[in-house]
Amino acid sequence: MPRPLFTTDQYVAGILAGDRVMLGRAITLVESSRPEHQALAQEVIGRLLDRSERGADSFRIAITGSPGVGKSTFIEALGTHLTERGERVAVLAIDPSSAVSRGSILGDKTRMERLSASELAFIRPSPSGDSLGGVARKTRETILLVEAAGYTTVLLETVGVGQSEIAAHSMTDLFMLLLLPGAGDELQGIKRGIVEMADLLVVNKADNDRVALAKQAQAWYRNAIHLFPAKPGGWAPRVLTCSAQEQKGIAEVWEAALAFRQQMTDNGLWTDNRRQQSQYWLREAIHDGLLRAFHAHPRVRERLATLEPAVLAGRMSPFAAAEAVLKAFWEAEGG
Ligand code: GDP
Repeated sequence: MPRPLFTTDQYVAGILAGDRVMLGRAITLVESSRPEHQALAQEVIGRLLDRSERGADSFRIAITGSPGVGKSTFIEALGTHLTERGERVAVLAIDPSSAVSRGSILGDKTRMERLSASELAFIRPSPSGDSLGGVARKTRETILLVEAAGYTTVLLETVGVGQSEIAAHSMTDLFMLLLLPGAGDELQGIKRGIVEMADLLVVNKADNDRVALAKQAQAWYRNAIHLFPAKPGGWAPRVLTCSAQEQKGIAEVWEAALAFRQQMTDNGLWTDNRRQQSQYWLREAIHDGLLRAFHAHPRVRERLATLEPAVLAGRMSPFAAAEAVLKAFWEAEGG
């Protein structure tokens, strides 16, 4: 039996009051693929965005790095550092593997035991979906919900293997890359493009016998980033070391994040960046909506069913067939 839905008013009131159960239910609506859930989710988000002061003072941080680098441990350490200072922290994730199967690399958040016990923290695993685009969009909407519920820091975790970083980058203010002690990208299994996107690079596991190796990685990355084009607004990415396990260097990472925020606010890029991101997501949502309407259209399905075999058999060109299918759509839509 599906759980009964609440009214828009009930969701909105619950979220604004900081009711975590209601917040969780609203996120479940966002994550649902059922049209009636989607419609309700959009109403709730729309109502919450009317309160434009909500979310304006939030800090959205993407945290990425190869599996095993210590992302969960680091997020637990940073999150705890913040909740101990009275900050409300939401931890979300974009996991590309959850788009394929429900078994996901980032799914197991039970390790963040300390943080999840805090009243000030809200932890939600990655949504699943049939495409990375779908997963990313749900996460973007979830950010708006957690901010409306008063979580001022959003830590968004991704695996450092490619496309999901681009998605995380498109919805956050700061992009943080975790690295392992030792030098060189090859060693880390990280693409150069990802290193270039980073505003902060943090070499984790700088403890025990790996302190010297961590310093070596720090020096290597400091050199490497000099060769990259300058960041907008003149921000020079910083390279720090820490031990998430021993909670060392975490305060310094947070100070660097705040310095970034200050500089980007002073030079006006903070707001610019958020506006560009909103524009990007507006366009993405239109593209998505058009594609869905197109592929769900009975005339399109019908025409495709006859024309596709003709294309595959070499009896018709792909372009002529595409023209014909599009024409069927426009005609049916009265265009
Ligand atoms: P993730 O896959 O990136 O989320 O990495 P985890 O947080 O699960 O950590 C992977 C392994 O590295 C675990 O065994 C952690 O205990 C260990 N680890 C994480 N941070 C540190 C650290 O700062 N120092 C040391 N020595 N080990 C760490």
